[in-house]
Amino acid sequence: MADSKKVIQILRAIGSKIEEEKDYLTKLDQPIGDSDHGINMARGFGEVEKKLDDLADKDIGTILKTVGMTLVSTVGGASGPLYGSAFLKAGMAAAGKTEMNVQDFLEIMDTAIQAVQQRGKAVLDEKTMLDAMIPSLEAMKAEASEDAKTVLKKGVEAAWKGVEHTKDIIATKGRASYLGERSIGHQDPGATSYSYILEVISQQI
Ligand code: ADP
Ligand code: MG
Repeated sequence: MADSKKVIQILRAIGSKIEEEKDYLTKLDQPIGDSDHGINMARGFGEVEKKLDDLADKDIGTILKTVGMTLVSTVGGASGPLYGSAFLKAGMAAAGKTEMNVQDFLEIMDTAIQAVQQRGKAVLDEKTMLDAMIPSLEAMKAEASEDAKTVLKKGVEAAWKGVEHTKDIIATKGRASYLGERSIGHQDPGATSYSYILEVISQQI
């Protein structure tokens, strides 16, 4: 499914997509947050981009761990430590691997999403990135015996469906929770950035 070179190519493409959607992600964070999600993510992935050339001959675990450490140290806000731990734990799950198949990918994603849950202490339906992450992972696991493109396509569909669902629910974690019922009607920025990330993986794979 992917070797180290492919993983680096995907990370570059994620950086470009985040940069492209920076203003939109920031705009989503305005009514229910502090208007910085796109700025935070673009800063983090911009720093990641600078390290990718030096990682070309490394294993997938080292690449993902470096991404995690970079995000933790350069992204402020909730999303830095959350995405940072996701990539760090993903790196641990991929330690020593120079190639991953669909099964490895699903295990790595599972570990990454569990890391977000542990770090942020949120569950499904709290209007966070997990509302895209959890249903997309379940959808992908259900297709595990299919090829990577098919698996990812299902995951992306479920992730965007999860994003739509965040509009209907009250935020009970993160900054948006300060708004209580007034958070209804607004789309979660973190669920949106995650869906872009998964979409890029599906396009590049
Ligand atoms: P901050 O809220 O600190 O300004 P960002 O704006 O970069 O950080 O990120 C906000 C996003 O972080 C939210 O849209 C939500 O998806 C996610 N988030 C916030 N708190 C949690 C949490 N406890 N668990 C999972 N995701 C969270
Ligand atoms: Mg914010």
